[in-house]
Amino acid sequence: MERLNGKIVAQDIKNQIKIEIESRLTHGKKPPCLACIIVGDNPASQVYVSSKVKACNAVGMKSVVRALPEKTSESEVISVINQLNNDDEISAILLQLPLPKGLDERKILNYISPEKDADGLTDILLGKLFAGTNKIAPCTASGIIKILDAYNIDPCGKRAVVIGRSLLVGKSVAVLLEERNATVTVCHSKTKNLADITKEADILIVAIGKEKFVKADMIKLGATVIDVGINRTDNGIVGDVDYENVKENCSFITPVPGGVGPMTIAMLLSNTLELEKDREV
Ligand code: NAP
Repeated sequence: MERLNGKIVAQDIKNQIKIEIESRLTHGKKPPCLACIIVGDNPASQVYVSSKVKACNAVGMKSVVRALPEKTSESEVISVINQLNNDDEISAILLQLPLPKGLDERKILNYISPEKDADGLTDILLGKLFAGTNKIAPCTASGIIKILDAYNIDPCGKRAVVIGRSLLVGKSVAVLLEERNATVTVCHSKTKNLADITKEADILIVAIGKEKFVKADMIKLGATVIDVGINRTDNGIVGDVDYENVKENCSFITPVPGGVGPMTIAMLLSNTLELEKDREV
């Protein structure tokens, strides 16, 4: 079994981004700037936003954070998005999810200009993802593909099973795997006989948000297992896969933390740089 080390792969991507930004600066271009909008005081979201800001600093990108109170109305969030859409200093906008209850996530996300959609989650960019005409894909989904690439795990011709069908992760990574010629099955909470399906997977992606849900008897011997889950427990952050139970059955497995999480941030930086470059064309 080999651990897929997201920290190392993400660091390589960030190093390349840093070099590119430095070179752009010497050619008189300005550093890209990521705007993060956070609504409310969800502690996990605050940690995510501060690690995104730190990651921007580390590669020479700028960032701004617009922190809005829990009780912010839909129209107030939309008004902040519109300001950022019209602000020439801003390359990309990230709306930190989840939003507080009562705010319509899909409606609000779609106010982000597709030219500044850092996570590729507007309907327009998701449509392009589906059509295969996208440059930007949701960060976690593209991060999963990058980590597979880094370890020369080629999805072509493989059976891939994705558990979870969110736009943020499950559906998006399913599209990207199919683009790489995997045969993809997407499972969800209504799927019957889940283990029968997962046991056929050469590549198993798990994105459900349930601590240690996937056990050894759900894994095909020699599979690659990508654990997207982030579950906060008394014993720290735990994935959706029971790592200790499963690891001996796998060829490759991502740890939590240190697997998909760092890849997501690296791809956010990559998307921000790409969006800035597109603005210059
Ligand atoms: P989500 O929107 O809540 O979606 C969860 C999906 O899991 C749904 O499609 C749901 O099915 C499915 N599901 C739930 N229970 C299931 C079960 N018992 N059997 C099969 N499917 C089940 O969550 P998400 O945003 O995709 O995130 C999933 C996990 O990944 C969370 O732990 C999140 O924190 C983590 N995450 C990590 C990163 C990272 O960078 N590492 C990024 C994003 C998310 P239904 O559709 O039928 O309800």
